Amino acid sequence: MHHFDYDIVFVGGGLVNGLLAWQLKRIKPWVRFLILERAISFGGRSTWSFHEKDLTPEALRWITPLISASWPFYQVAFPEYERQLESRYYSIRSRKFHEVLHQELAENVRFNTDVLAVSENQVVLKDGTIISAKQILDGRGKRELEKGACGFQKFFGLEVELNHPHGLKAPILMDATVKQKDGYRFFYCLPWSENRLLIEDTRYSETPDLDSEECRREILEYCAEKNWQVREVFYEETGCLPLPLKNQFWLGSRSSESLRETSLTVGMRAGLFHPTTGYSLPMAVQTVELLIKSHDQETWPQLLERFSEGVYHRQKFFVLLNRVMFLAGRPERRFQFLQHFYRLPGDLIDSFYAHRLSSFEKVRFFLRTPPVPISAAFSALRRELASDT
Ligand SMILES: Cc1cc2nc3c(=O)[nH]c(=O)nc-3n(C[C@H](O)[C@H](O)[C@H](O)COP(=O)(O)OP(=O)(O)OC[C@H]3O[C@@H](n4cnc5c(N)ncnc54)[C@H](O)[C@@H]3O)c2cc1C
Repeated sequence: MHHFDYDIVFVGGGLVNGLLAWQLKRIKPWVRFLILERAISFGGRSTWSFHEKDLTPEALRWITPLISASWPFYQVAFPEYERQLESRYYSIRSRKFHEVLHQELAENVRFNTDVLAVSENQVVLKDGTIISAKQILDGRGKRELEKGACGFQKFFGLEVELNHPHGLKAPILMDATVKQKDGYRFFYCLPWSENRLLIEDTRYSETPDLDSEECRREILEYCAEKNWQVREVFYEETGCLPLPLKNQFWLGSRSSESLRETSLTVGMRAGLFHPTTGYSLPMAVQTVELLIKSHDQETWPQLLERFSEGVYHRQKFFVLLNRVMFLAGRPERRFQFLQHFYRLPGDLIDSFYAHRLSSFEKVRFFLRTPPVPISAAFSALRRELASDT
């Protein structure tokens, strides 16, 4: 019988692999596993947020030790109106994510470890070491998508301490009253405490580049306009998430079609994210629940394959929306799309974020006239169908 060094090797200690390893240790402590992470902590520098309806009540229970803050509602602001949405909003900060995971997984992780190559049962480290396992889970994060096949959600944020309370009772998910540039632009504010805020300058843009110096300056100007006197800047966070315009972006649970026998892939790397927000936390949680509940690790490839296929079919609708948003209107008018979206009933908005629109809800979604010329919307959709066949 073949001897393996471990039952499982996790390549990358980011969101999905971190969650899975953490739950595995709690529920199946006998499984021998190792996490290989190139950085010096779990989760990098991120704030992962989600809506209450994105997760099942059971998932919400087990993920609770990681939650840094939650608020009973959130707000949006557009040139034509402001709205408060009665849906609980949660944030997990990577600092806490690392602290909680490290307490339980210290002996299962090697930080500062760069993986060079991954195959079905082996990984090769940068220093040439080879480690074998019955199952390798590749969770190395997002891949670059084919040029022209996606738009981008890009952002740069500052965490600031103010001299006086800011007065926000809940997050502002989109403040689109700011000057529009570089596509659809909005500010995102998370109030951590009375005086402390994370403020992000966010854009739905054609290009991935962002001038962090300019964002830093304009976030401070935004604070000044709101009369928020900044005492100190603590932390910076930046990201760029692909928003696919074509269905071909999906890679499946295997590394690639031509490498059927390679390792299993999970998370962003496997295309398991919401096409219109670029967010992956809900699907990472679903992946964990799916794999943890299985009796036998040997069934993981089939389970992941089926799960990824289901996600892929649901993603198609959101890819179409991306096409309408990015291709049917002028970039500087893109805000109208979201201004229109946030007028929808709250339950529809919840289902949209949860990546769970039923056929009936899709019809309800489209019964509202799109905020772009109908002919342009149809032309964007037609181009999608042509490029897919
Ligand atoms: C700043 C930011 C904010 C985000 N906010 C949200 C949000 O609010 N809600 C949401 O749902 N989604 C959010 N996302 C999107 C998405 O959920 C995250 O990108 C999420 O972290 C993806 O999880 P993952 O496990 O697939 O990859 P990651 O969390 O990116 O993990 C990949 C890990 O693999 C490691 N790695 C890569 N290559 C190697 C290698 N060769 N050897 C060893 N280790 C390697 C990396 O260091 C990293 O730790 C955000 C993304 C960013 C960047």
